[in-house]
Amino acid sequence: MIVRMVIGLVLTAVAFAIAGRRLWWLKRLALTGQPAPERLAYAREHVPVEVKTQLSEVVGQRKLLKWSVPGAAHAATFWGFLVLMLTIIEAYGALFQRTFSIPWIGHWTFTGFVEDLFATGVLCGIATFTVIRLRNDPHREGRRSRFFGSHTRAAWVVLAMIFLVVLTLLIYRGAQENTGVFPYQSSGAWVFASWLAGKALHPLGYGVNSVLEATFILGQLGVIMAFLVVVAYSKHLHIGLAPLNVMFSRRPNGLGPLEPMRSGGKVLDFEEADPDTDVFGLGKIEDFSWKGLLDMGTCTECGRCQSQCPAWATDKPLSPKQLILDLRDHAFAKAPYLLSPADARDSLPADVLAEAARPLVGSPSDNGVIDPEVLWACTNCGACVNECPVDIEHIDHINGMRRHQVLVESAFPQEAQGMLNNLERKGNPWGMSEDRRGDWIAEMDFEIPVIDGTIPSDVEYLYWVGCAGALEDRAKKATKATAELLHAAGVKFAVLGPAEACTGDPARRLGNEFVFQMLAQQNVETLNEAGVGEGSGKKVIASCPHCFNTIAREYPQLGGNYEVIHHTQLLSRLVADGHLKPVNEVNEKITYHDPCFLGRHNEIYTPPRHVIESVPGVQAEEMHRCKGKGFCCGAGGARMWLEERTGSRINENRIDEALALDPDTVATGCPYCMVMLGDAVNAKKAAGQAKETLEVIDVSQLLVRAIKLREDAAAE
Ligand code: SF4
Ligand code: SF4
Repeated sequence: MIVRMVIGLVLTAVAFAIAGRRLWWLKRLALTGQPAPERLAYAREHVPVEVKTQLSEVVGQRKLLKWSVPGAAHAATFWGFLVLMLTIIEAYGALFQRTFSIPWIGHWTFTGFVEDLFATGVLCGIATFTVIRLRNDPHREGRRSRFFGSHTRAAWVVLAMIFLVVLTLLIYRGAQENTGVFPYQSSGAWVFASWLAGKALHPLGYGVNSVLEATFILGQLGVIMAFLVVVAYSKHLHIGLAPLNVMFSRRPNGLGPLEPMRSGGKVLDFEEADPDTDVFGLGKIEDFSWKGLLDMGTCTECGRCQSQCPAWATDKPLSPKQLILDLRDHAFAKAPYLLSPADARDSLPADVLAEAARPLVGSPSDNGVIDPEVLWACTNCGACVNECPVDIEHIDHINGMRRHQVLVESAFPQEAQGMLNNLERKGNPWGMSEDRRGDWIAEMDFEIPVIDGTIPSDVEYLYWVGCAGALEDRAKKATKATAELLHAAGVKFAVLGPAEACTGDPARRLGNEFVFQMLAQQNVETLNEAGVGEGSGKKVIASCPHCFNTIAREYPQLGGNYEVIHHTQLLSRLVADGHLKPVNEVNEKITYHDPCFLGRHNEIYTPPRHVIESVPGVQAEEMHRCKGKGFCCGAGGARMWLEERTGSRINENRIDEALALDPDTVATGCPYCMVMLGDAVNAKKAAGQAKETLEVIDVSQLLVRAIKLREDAAAE
């Protein structure tokens, strides 16, 4: 017993010392990041939300279970390890007393049964993981594998270790049965796995079973301690870090608004910013906040983000997983530099100094950590953030780096320069005159009030038309259809006309926070003057999901608070309340494309579908990638204004999926999507791959066809 006890305790002490040293180093590294006081404050002030999130995301494995088979395997392994804590207590107890049992519950048949059940569950889990990994072998599958770029060898080592944990457990429990010291001796076959192991070992006799009992208790503790060390030094660090990362992630889900630009933890106001002392965006690894560094350490390398990324799917160099791993590798390699006192850095080894000198964003020839092609390929679609089981915030990191590139380095794709100039000079990306915003109004056959000052008291809605809706020919059709429907339903609305300016979304998503703040402040002033602020009882209708997201969820960062509704939400309500009655049959097969900034970023999935389904005769069919798993059109993240030079085109990839359903119409709820998908359809028509009658329309255009008088429709 003494030898068993000494070996067990020495093993434990050594493992804890090695793992503890690593954790201490990781903590010091994380604290070299910038402060993030808002994360701590939120967690402190919203304890019930945090508890609920931990229960659902960590204990309930909510995001993991969205992928049924791997999710179930992970849940079985995770829950198994929680339950197997009891067996670890029993193994330690057996070091000191051979007949040890956990006080009170330690002889219950139920306890023994549950332990065996979950041990078997863990075995099933790792068997499933083995199959998944073999089927997705990156060496065979290449980029199609979600494990492409992950450290697969370490993953196999960990799977083997988990198997050994359960194997040693069952062997020592089986041997305990045969030596008569098993705490669940009287439970018989209820403790089924141990009972079976006992039956298998029984022929070896008491002596051999005694040796097996002692050896495999130590073996079990040895494997667990080795596992502890491996966890501390590998991607399996997520076992400890995931609950922390989930706790401090941006609520509700890291999507929707971008993080405001911060310097030293405080939100940066350009009017007060000091170019000598303030940090503009993320230009070095130490410019990331501790939460950013925690993100890097928490990545499990599962590749779920990569598998959903439209840039990766179309052969661009951007993989959200690889981006996080590259940042993590750089942070770890630069750590000796970051953790050294400033006056001792010059004497660090040459390789550390070389790592410290690497530009955060730079081409491979400049030894950059993140290739600019990677940085600019992102459409901000949110698929990565939505999928990530440990709540990593890829978009904020990407946009943080873009901010530094634009504001400090002036290094961004030059084709975007025209758009930025147009925004600064004319308040819209096309550089058209402000007066042109009213052109579509003149084409309507009823009057639409244009607000001059304050919104009239009898008008309930301000219709925020957006630049595309007012100035782009295809999007203008949707604007007019929406206006017509509102008019038909008797909704009182007004528009801002020339007083409306771009919300600033393309500038912000490109990284130009300066232009964004300029436009946003101007619009907040206009909206406040119009009297549509919070508490006014007035609502803002936005047709463009980018405008919707910016006004509803980003303007509060600048003090502008408004009740914003997307036009599909309002149309859905008007149909449901009987104010709009779709009576004309539209005998078409229609598939709906979820705009990322309406769907994933703002979780508006049902209203546009409700409108489509309300139209008689429509045969609605979903594409495989829909709702939360919807595939981007390629326009977000200011990509609308950038060339797509690498790989295949995202919009064509999306349309190929629609074409597989052979629809008559592709409907959507976003002017950007209409333009991108419309271009893709035109390209497919030119190549003879799509029927000439196929069109891309807004949901409002479909509804207008269904409520118009038959003669009007025929005339049209
Ligand atoms: S936001 Fe979309 S495009 Fe950007 S990295 Fe994530 S998945 Fe890829
Ligand atoms: S970032 Fe999240 S989804 Fe992507 S590999 Fe890491 S843990 Fe998985």
